[in-house]
Parts: sequence; structure tokens; C-alpha cells
Amino acid sequence: MRSGYYSSVDSFLRYARQKQNDIIALIRDFVECESPSDHPPSVNRFVDLMAERVQDIARVRTYPGGTFGKHLRCEFTLPGGRKNGQILALGHSDTVWMLGTLSAMPFKEGRGRLWGPGVLDMKAGMAFFIFAMRALRDLDVAVARKVVLQVNSDEEVGSESSRALTEDAARQSAAVLVLEPGTGIEGKLKTARKGVGNYTLVVHGRASHAGVDFSNGANAIVEMSRQLEKIAGFTRLDRGITVSPGVIHGGTRSNVVAAECRAEIDIRAPRARDREYLDRKFGSLKPFDKRCTLKLSGGLNRPPMERSAGVRKLYGIASKLAAEMGVAIEESATGGGSDGNFTAALGVPTLDGLGAVGEGAHAPNESILINRIADRTALLAKLVGAL
Ligand SMILES: [Zn+2]
Repeated sequence: MRSGYYSSVDSFLRYARQKQNDIIALIRDFVECESPSDHPPSVNRFVDLMAERVQDIARVRTYPGGTFGKHLRCEFTLPGGRKNGQILALGHSDTVWMLGTLSAMPFKEGRGRLWGPGVLDMKAGMAFFIFAMRALRDLDVAVARKVVLQVNSDEEVGSESSRALTEDAARQSAAVLVLEPGTGIEGKLKTARKGVGNYTLVVHGRASHAGVDFSNGANAIVEMSRQLEKIAGFTRLDRGITVSPGVIHGGTRSNVVAAECRAEIDIRAPRARDREYLDRKFGSLKPFDKRCTLKLSGGLNRPPMERSAGVRKLYGIASKLAAEMGVAIEESATGGGSDGNFTAALGVPTLDGLGAVGEGAHAPNESILINRIADRTALLAKLVGAL
């Protein structure tokens, strides 16, 4: 490395620092436009706001989101003539926060952080990316590939309506950059994510009077209890596979032998081949009480993002670019899923957790660190410039 290399501040970092107030203003506008997954008109309002804020630097189009809000695609106009392949950045417009949350949890700046619903997951990450694209334009850095930002409206609820769009875009891309928050207060990048899914088990028994006709009843709750003990035993912590019953409903009244019981079970697994194990285990369930029947549905709905050679290479590039700014980044594996799971499963090198650094996603202390805004924005610009 050239001597004295660190003595001059990286030009992208300098740019992002100069623009920090503008970045914060954009984050504020994004957070103050609430967009819960289950309220399409609000999500659409957010999408319109974002489209308006990039229209001077991107070609924008939207796609219908079915029962959700619309999905947004921004193709940026960047310096550099010949466009060789594509880089896909992934964001999501929806948040887990109900409409009206802002009145109790308003956007604010304090204690070195920005606070508010959705600020970390993931409105700041998208604001960073927009300013990263402005940096490439304003610094006139030639970009070899087409750069597309896709913003899905249903990520927090499983990405059912956006999945095909994400996969189509990923197939045309050399790399995928996911703007989800980093891990922990250090903002570690995410190079592996578990596959995520859920099963629903319904037990049908036979109702009867708990006092007069007890023996004629087949208790669905008792049957479910025995099944759940077995199901919880499918967890293999040494292999990172977890099986966690999360919701249970059953019965009507205490003096009626329960005819029906329903349970929802969360499953997480780090490797694609774990699907077979889970399918086999769940497929082997049989009623203990022969008068009961079991109905099982579901499975993994997000495949695992595995730490492939392509992912490792991408992480290596990011880590070198961060070091140029004097920033040491680390990588992490997480049990949570994102749209990066879909793209990585197609074999497209995917780097996740490139968004904001903070804590409290989905929680009342949701916040991002102001002193990590500039280096994250600069890293995104440098990555897009380097790929
Ligand atoms: Zn998210």
C-alpha cells in the first residue's frame, strides 16, 4: 500500500461527511412517512416519496404488489459508458410498525443517534444507497455495471408478492447488495443467514361432554401436547437447526373435550440440505391417539443464505474497501431471514447487512448511530464503483 495513504481522507468518505445533514434530512422524511406492511396506501405513499427523491438520478418504475403496496425499481444514471452486467441493491419499503406509531415514538435526534420506527430496518439503509449513487455521480466515478435498487413492499411479512421479481432481477446480476442493518452495535456485515419457515399443525379430535361422555371424546389439546413435545425435539442445536412452537390455539370451553387444536411452529436451518431433515421429521408425525387426525402444512419459505465462495469474495472486497477508510468491518451469521436469502440461494454472490449501524430493530429503542452514517454511505459507493 502507498505510504501516507491514510493521511488523506478517502474522497467518498469526505463526500458522505459533507452530505451528512442532507442524508439525515432524507432519513427523517422516510421515517416520518409511515409504511406498515399491512397498509398498502401508506406503503404506496412512501414509494411515491422515494421515487420523487431519486427522479433526478434514476429511471423509476413500479410493479403491482397484489394485496401489498407496490414494489419500486430504480435504475440509476451513473458515469461510465459501457454497462457490463448489473448490480442489484435490495431494500424494503415496509416496516413492522403500525400506523400511528409516530405519535408515541416520533423521529428524533439525540445521544448520538437517530430514533424512530423503521429508522434501522431499513429506511436509513435506503437513504445511504441513494446518497452513495449521488457520490458516484458528483465525484464522476465511472461505474462498469448497470445499478438497480429494488424496494419490496412485503419483506417483513415473507416477500410472497415480491419474491419472483427479486429472483428475476438477481439472475441478471453479478452481485446483490442488501441494505438491511448490520449485526450488533458494530454493524457486522451478514455473510450467512439461516433458512426460515413455519409449519402449521392442526389436530382434529372428537368433541364430547367432559363430564357426561368423557370416554367418547378424543382430546385434540392432549394430542397436540404430545406432538409438540416430539416436534420440539427436532431441534439440533449442534447443527444450528431450531424448531420452535410459537402459537397454539385449541378448544372451546373447559367442560368440552377439545375437538380441534392448531399450532404454528417456527423453523430455522443454516444449510439447504437441512430441508430434507425437516421434511422427513415432520412427515413422520403420526397420531398417538388413533381417533385423532393430523393435518400438516408449510415448510421452509426462505432458503438459507450460505457462505459460498462468491459471498466470501464479495465480503473480501468490502472489507478491503472499508480498510481504505480506516474502518475495520467484521462478518456475522444470523438466524433472521431477508430477501438476500432468495438471491444467495440462486448462487448470486450476496452481501447483506450493508445498511445502517444501530440497535432495536422491531423494538421501541430502534435507533441508528449518527457517526456510522458517513462510512456506510461511502462503503456502498466504493463497492458499486469497484464491482
Ligand atoms: Zn429489514
